Amino acid sequence: MSVVALVPAAGRGERLGYGMAKALVPVNGVPLLVRAVRGLLDAGCVQHVVVAAPPSDVDTMCTVTASLASAGGAVHVLAGGAERTDSVRLALEYALREIPDTRIVLVHDAARAFTPGEVVRRVVEAVEAGRPAVIPVLPMADTVKQVDAGGVVVATPDRSALRIVQTPQGFTADVLLRAHASGVRATDDAGLVERLGVAVTTVAGHPNAMKITTPFDLAVAEALLTGGTT
Ligand code: C5P
Repeated sequence: MSVVALVPAAGRGERLGYGMAKALVPVNGVPLLVRAVRGLLDAGCVQHVVVAAPPSDVDTMCTVTASLASAGGAVHVLAGGAERTDSVRLALEYALREIPDTRIVLVHDAARAFTPGEVVRRVVEAVEAGRPAVIPVLPMADTVKQVDAGGVVVATPDRSALRIVQTPQGFTADVLLRAHASGVRATDDAGLVERLGVAVTTVAGHPNAMKITTPFDLAVAEALLTGGTT
């Protein structure tokens, strides 16, 4: 019985402005993808990682991740799709076809390259304990406003009931397959599961699992490394 992590990394990452796929952008010389895949395998509970690469970067992503396969883990790279949802679906179909004992599936963002192993383990343990869908979350530090099309505030949701969502998100393989069979496009796989009426459970995330999207985020990640906290 395998825990398989899908890593959709087929985006162009234009907001970082590096002129390369975001997953290949280095932080202190090591690409985000390498850090993310290593983090998944080092957590000790993931047996396979399936990376969805931009079609033109499949060979490069194969090369950079080749050395990561450890005694307990294998890395697979395939071409992703037009949008994130397509990349996840293609990676899931690959896992179910090529890794026959796939039981638990994680979906992890390569941009969350510094996710601590404890977060990966919390998600896997909760799915193993019988939860069909599990997401790591953090409390909201900021007040959030809902606005209309003109930018005028229409509501102030109760902050204590809001959470910031991170990855990896964990699912039983059949629930994720059913969620993706809907054909709906989403930035959040748990959102697709919610539409099925399946309960999504939360576990504690970690500040280091932040998503690296902008040059500012990259600078924060490099500072984290320099500070020796990752
Ligand atoms: O662009 P955005 O940050 O929303 O992308 C989220 C994730 O989805 C990124 O890791 C990106 O590489 C991935 N993605 C993908 N296939 C696409 C587009 C985005 O795997 N066609």
